[in-house]
Amino acid sequence: MQEPFRKKKKYGQNFLIGNTVVKRIVAGSGIDADCGVLEIGPGAGALTRELLSAAKRVVSVEIDGELIPILENCFGNDSRFTLIHGDILKTDVSALLREHFAGMPVCVCANLPYYITTDVLTKLMRELPQAKSIAVMIQKEVGDKLLSGPGDDGYGSLAVMCQYRYHVMRALDVPAACFNPPPKVDSSFMVLEKLEQPRVNAGDEEIFTRLVRSAFAMRRKTLLNNLVSGFSLNREQAAACLAAANLSAQARAEELSLEDFAGLAIQLQNTIR
Ligand code: SAM
Repeated sequence: MQEPFRKKKKYGQNFLIGNTVVKRIVAGSGIDADCGVLEIGPGAGALTRELLSAAKRVVSVEIDGELIPILENCFGNDSRFTLIHGDILKTDVSALLREHFAGMPVCVCANLPYYITTDVLTKLMRELPQAKSIAVMIQKEVGDKLLSGPGDDGYGSLAVMCQYRYHVMRALDVPAACFNPPPKVDSSFMVLEKLEQPRVNAGDEEIFTRLVRSAFAMRRKTLLNNLVSGFSLNREQAAACLAAANLSAQARAEELSLEDFAGLAIQLQNTIR
């Protein structure tokens, strides 16, 4: 007889229970019958089932080998479903897109394992810029961060990069009782809807991304010092960039708006060229 499945804390296995919340998640994610959906961490398939009834194709990536036969058993006969046994952080997601979703708009939907929330969001923004939306259940506190602005607690590179390219919405607050086992933190289902154009003109996106990352790298340092180390500039060059972008030499990253970062990125591009 098959052993009953034991949930593993190390993989963040808090499974969704109750059909109502699952239906609300899929309805709020913007997925339609034309979409290819990348699901991260299908678990025992609570969300997968609903995704398969809403989307054209679903590809799910699951790290836990014990769940693979359970998922194959549930959905293996559906030709629109592909299961990949692997770690999403080590998966070549753009190759996966080319192989499974050619010609389709692509959405990501996941009840994320919370231990890798930031890494997954960073990876998706970097490696899947073509995704139409990224809809994820995450800790409520991380949801607050994504919506934060200059001067708010938790404002950092994740908020700046999300708001640069996406319309960020909190679609649903989900109480711990909707999961088994219930997590110790509150959760929010967040939808990142890709904008037609980035919110601001930041010039060269590689330099903009590098600027945002290095600006928040050492929070205790001034932006000027972070620019010196992040871009190998001397202090005069860094100060001149800040002045040209109408920013004070004492400015700190957490005070800068998205527009400020874009303006500074353009000044940096002129300096390091
Ligand atoms: N989607 C299911 C649900 O809503 O009931 C399960 C969600 S549970 C919060 C997170 C799932 O992600 C688990 O199935 C876990 O094994 C899987 N997981 C954890 N780390 C992963 C990783 N690095 N790559 C892929 N899947 C992972």
